[in-house]
Amino acid sequence: MLDSAERLCVARGSRLTELRRLVLGLVLDAGRPVGAYDLLDGLRADKKGAAPPTVYRALDFLLEQGLIHKIQRLSAFVGCTHVLDASHAHAGGCHPHAAQFLICTGCGQVTELDDRNIVHALVDATRDIGFMVRQSTVEAEGLCGACRTGSPVPARADGAP
Ligand SMILES: [Zn+2]
Ligand SMILES: [Zn+2]
Repeated sequence: MLDSAERLCVARGSRLTELRRLVLGLVLDAGRPVGAYDLLDGLRADKKGAAPPTVYRALDFLLEQGLIHKIQRLSAFVGCTHVLDASHAHAGGCHPHAAQFLICTGCGQVTELDDRNIVHALVDATRDIGFMVRQSTVEAEGLCGACRTGSPVPARADGAP
């Protein structure tokens, strides 16, 4: 996944530096939404003395490239499941301006949707009042299938597999 992210950046004329790559790796490894300070802790294992601005700059770059998303509700970051999945139709050109996230309050997992119907419904509903949607992020809270059927995946604080 890191290699495909690197190829993507090269194709766009930007650079996935070692540091940006490290931060992206930490986000992907977590497998669940991870906060900036957890990332800083993880980064310090490799880069002693890494400071918050370093992490924030790397996160800004990754957000700009659509490689990760920020879940506002959780102030945490997740890897974009679409842009890094070569089999997905949007691979290489995701949808940084329209995404939907399903946040499970049981296990903390976030599932990313890329449903154009939701975006179109929003655009249609607002057009009549003269509003033009430029970007939209939907964050829905609820229970995932596993949590609803009573076999919850325990929430992990340490991010270990
Ligand atoms: Zn995405
Ligand atoms: Zn769940």
